[in-house]
Amino acid sequence: MKCPYCQGGDTRVIDTREANEGVRRRRECRGCEKRFTTYEHVAASNPMVVKRDGRREEFDRAKLLAGVRKACAKRPIAVEEVERLVNAVESRVRARKKGEVKSRVIGDMVMKKLKELDEVAYIRFASVYLPLDDLNAIKREVDRLLEQK
Ligand SMILES: [Zn+2]
Repeated sequence: MKCPYCQGGDTRVIDTREANEGVRRRRECRGCEKRFTTYEHVAASNPMVVKRDGRREEFDRAKLLAGVRKACAKRPIAVEEVERLVNAVESRVRARKKGEVKSRVIGDMVMKKLKELDEVAYIRFASVYLPLDDLNAIKREVDRLLEQK
């Protein structure tokens, strides 16, 4: 890390903070004693999500969160619970070694967790997420999930 003032290479970190976009460090140059701030961005590679039609897109936590929030709208579910659910799904997706995951697998994880949390939110999510437009099909999905338990 070079000092932006004197280009000297001898700097020390005097403060480190987690910032939204990564890590913020306050540094001091040992040469000219000026202080400056650097940001380190975490280059976390997102897993790829394989959609039903075979297209791939990067895993998007915000999108997942929005979907779950929508399903939980006006239900007696704490914001923290929604966050926790999404965090749990996200870490499982990221823990997979393959680097890609079927959208179906993610949807199933969410549905299982929502089912434990709130039946209405679960049905809402399922009815949006599943490519099925009739209740019988959703019922079959429910049965399938119950069998997996
Ligand atoms: Zn300097």
